[in-house]
Amino acid sequence: MAERFVNDFEQPYEQIEPFAWLRMQGVGGRLLGWEGQSYRFSELDFMARAHDGYGTNWPINYKRLVPYYEEAERYLRIVGTTDNIPQLPDSIYSKAAAQSLAEGLIREPAAKHLGIKVIPARLSQRSFAKREQRESDERGYTPLGAIEQGLRTGRLTLRTGAIVTELIVEGNQVRGVQIVEGESSISEAYANVVFLCASTLESTRLLLRCACLKSNKTLGRYLMDHVMGGGAFGYVDMPKAALAASKREPQRIYIPRFRNIDHRITNGFIRGYGIQGKVITDSPEECLAEKSSRVTKTIRLRVVLSAFGECLARYENSVALSATTDRWGRPNLAIGARWCKNEERLMQDAATQCTRLLEVCGVKDIQTTSMLSTPGLAIHEVGTARMGENPEESVVDPNCEAHAVRGLFVTDGACWVSSGCQNPTLTMLAITGMACEVVTRRFNLEKRRT
Ligand SMILES: Cc1cc2nc3c(=O)[nH]c(=O)nc-3n(C[C@H](O)[C@H](O)[C@H](O)COP(=O)(O)OP(=O)(O)OC[C@H]3O[C@@H](n4cnc5c(N)ncnc54)[C@H](O)[C@@H]3O)c2cc1C
Repeated sequence: MAERFVNDFEQPYEQIEPFAWLRMQGVGGRLLGWEGQSYRFSELDFMARAHDGYGTNWPINYKRLVPYYEEAERYLRIVGTTDNIPQLPDSIYSKAAAQSLAEGLIREPAAKHLGIKVIPARLSQRSFAKREQRESDERGYTPLGAIEQGLRTGRLTLRTGAIVTELIVEGNQVRGVQIVEGESSISEAYANVVFLCASTLESTRLLLRCACLKSNKTLGRYLMDHVMGGGAFGYVDMPKAALAASKREPQRIYIPRFRNIDHRITNGFIRGYGIQGKVITDSPEECLAEKSSRVTKTIRLRVVLSAFGECLARYENSVALSATTDRWGRPNLAIGARWCKNEERLMQDAATQCTRLLEVCGVKDIQTTSMLSTPGLAIHEVGTARMGENPEESVVDPNCEAHAVRGLFVTDGACWVSSGCQNPTLTMLAITGMACEVVTRRFNLEKRRT
């Protein structure tokens, strides 16, 4: 998979503060490499300011997104369990997750000793397959499947390898995009509706180049990524038979946010974190040698817990155009983001909680991890063109349409107001579905009028 990532030497960006910008170019984008962890936001996330007084509420609520979550979930085929957790609403599952060895090990002691709820990770079904099978077997569940469906309608033109370099805007109406193909062949494509979903920072690069958005004070601001690094790992010796019995199940668990659900603040921090857990073997060859008489009947497994914490939306975390340009003549990006005390405290707390969790589960040789990730490393970057009712304080409206440019929709992570602590892709898809319906309704209305 490494070869799919953009080479930073070939496509550089400026790091005002250390920032890891992990990009995959080509049809399908980073969804061709994702793990499939899929969690809804809840009202607590959309209305976070109402809960703790920090930042800005989203201009849309959970209820508005529900039908689009459902549509995205049916498409992604999520495997999970009905858990009835208000801060992590259930999805529509294509299949119930069976109990894994990881869940069997952690669930009960976590509930009994710490009152912490452990659930199977909610995974898009395609992530169950081996990596090499993904593209061939699972097209129906990847973005490629959606594109293939579109192509079959005969109304979709796919320009593989084309790079959009600029938006074409007349007055306050989008008219299309300028494209570079190969190294230098420039052309234009025209449309009265343009959906920008080139990934958070790439979409914002195009917006920053747009003359009529230059005066917007929030464009490029409030960059977020999930903070990682708080966690713990240790070892258990398992009978090989138990491993063999459950090896078809993904050994992944999820611990939904449990901090600041009823409270506003805990241990000096607001918001919370979700914990992703897995049980892995450091010696897969020993697992394979199950029947060999030379090997023991138990196997040492590593139990890993890692937290993903909410990043506060802060004006000073930003992206801007740099003075240097790339090989297509586009200004490079200058990215400057750093964690604040809240993120540090979140991860300290996560490290303590993960360690306690492993202790109560009888895990041995526990090591606590608490070094914060470099911003960007979670690959969950969001913000920089946020949505809102007020054009003075946001870039797009609650339908994701730019306040200043009619017909221009920004539906990837760029339009996010806060980061939550859940993996973001499911919510990105739901928001895109919502904006698509807005456009469809507008066209149908216009058609009826003419
Ligand atoms: C290894 C890995 C594991 C992950 N696991 C998870 C997970 O379990 N759960 C989760 O929720 N998220 C996960 N993510 C994050 C997830 O992949 C992203 O949230 C998601 O892909 C973002 O979608 P996007 O369409 O905004 O951006 P991308 O997936 O990056 O797609 C952007 C697309 O736009 C194209 N593009 C960019 N600029 C231009 C331009 N100027 N002109 C034309 N085209 C352009 C790109 O080529 C690409 O095709 C993971 C990411 C990685 C890398």
